[in-house]
Amino acid sequence: MPQLLEQSAFAAIPFAPLHDQIVAVTEAFRKDPRKEKINLSIGVYRDEQGILPVFESVKQAEAMIAEQERSSGTGKAYSPIEGLPEFREASSKLIFGNVSREHIVTVQTIGGSGALTLTAILAREFLAPEKVYFSDPCWVNHPGIFKLQKVKTAKLPYYDAERCKLLFDDFCSSLERLSSGSIVLLQASCHNPSGVDLSKQQWRTLSDLFKENQLIPILDLAYQGLAESLEDDAYAARLFANEGIPGFVAHSFSKSMSLYGERTGSLSIVTESAEQAQAVMSQLKNIIRPLYSNAPIHGAKIAATVLNDSTLSSQWQNEVGQLRTRINGLRRLLAAELKKNGVTDDLRYIAEGHGMFALLKLTPQQVAQLAEKHALYLVPDGRICIPALTMENVERVAKAIGNIDR
Ligand code: PLP
Repeated sequence: MPQLLEQSAFAAIPFAPLHDQIVAVTEAFRKDPRKEKINLSIGVYRDEQGILPVFESVKQAEAMIAEQERSSGTGKAYSPIEGLPEFREASSKLIFGNVSREHIVTVQTIGGSGALTLTAILAREFLAPEKVYFSDPCWVNHPGIFKLQKVKTAKLPYYDAERCKLLFDDFCSSLERLSSGSIVLLQASCHNPSGVDLSKQQWRTLSDLFKENQLIPILDLAYQGLAESLEDDAYAARLFANEGIPGFVAHSFSKSMSLYGERTGSLSIVTESAEQAQAVMSQLKNIIRPLYSNAPIHGAKIAATVLNDSTLSSQWQNEVGQLRTRINGLRRLLAAELKKNGVTDDLRYIAEGHGMFALLKLTPQQVAQLAEKHALYLVPDGRICIPALTMENVERVAKAIGNIDR
C-alpha cells in the first residue's frame, strides 16, 4: 500500500471562481425559470431563431475535406509545427491583401486567444516590455492572457461609457507619453466591448504616432468582415504593415466563419526584413513545439478550403455579409427603440457602432434590476450582445431599458 502523504498533495490549492463575469451571468440566466428570459451577455453570434449558424460554405468545405482525407490516405495527420501551409498563406492574404509579405511571417494558432498567448510569450522572451497596454475598456480576457505569461499590463483611456464618447485625443496623448519599445494592443475593428472603432483618418494618425514614438502594435483582428467589409476591417493591419511598422496581428475565424469551437486563428508578425522574418519564425516554432506541439487541423482545413476555392469563397463572403447586415440593422433598430422609450443620450455609439457589442450606459445596479424585473441578462458593465436581439424582442428590451430607475 502506498504511503499516504500527511497532507493531500493538492490541499494548498484554494478554490477560485472564474475571473470572467459573463460565466456568472450565464449561470444566473440558466437558473431563471421565466420563459421570456433573454441572455444578452453572450459573446457568440446567434441568428433570428437563436441558432448558432454553420455556414453553407463551411458545410461544403467539410464534405470536401472528408473526401480528401479518405482518398489521399493522409487522414488526420499532424500539421507542421507552424500550421498548415495552405491555411497560413490564405489567412495572411485575407489579412494583408496586396501588401508585400516577404517581411511577414504567419503561424496557425489556437484561435485568436492562442495568437495572443504566443504574442505574450514572444514579447516576454525577446522584447522585454515594461508593460503591455490595452484600451480602457478592453476585452475581458486581454489582461489575463498577458498576466498569465508574467507580462505586466496597464490600460489607456479609450472610451467614456458615461458620456458615450470615444476618447481619441486622450488615447493619443497617453501613447505619446509611453517610452519607445512599449507594446500596445489595438482592436482593429468591432471593438469589444464598446463597439466604437477608429476611423481611417484616426488609424493614420496612430500609425504616424507609432512610427514616430517607436511603439509596437498588437492588432487584434477577431471580427474581420463584421464591421464594414473584409477589406475595410483589415485597414489598420494593412496600413501598419505598409508603413513598415514592426508588430503583431492576432487573427481569428471564430466569428467571421462561425468556427468558434474549432479554434482557428493565426498570428502574423510584421518584421523589417525577410531575414528577420525567418528568425522570428524559427523562435515561434521553438515556442509552439513545447507549448502544444501543433495546432488542430480541422478548422484550419475548413478555412483554407473556403478561402482557396473561388465559389466557396464568394459564398462565404456573402454569408459573413449577411451577419454584418443583420447586426448593423439591429444596432440602428435598438437605437431607434431606445429613443422612442425616452433615452435621451446620443445613441450614435449604438447605431453607428460596429460588431457584436455595445456598452450601454447602465450601472451594475440597473443591470441587476433588468435581470430581476425583466429577465434580461447583461454583463454588469452594461455590455450587450447585439445579435442576441431579434426583431421580436428588441422592442421589449428597449422598453425595459428606457423605463429603468435612473
Ligand atoms: N479578441 C477579441 C477582441 C475577442 O472578442 C475575442 C473573442 O471573443 C478574441 C480575441 C478571441 O477569439 P477566439 O475565440 O478565436 O480565441
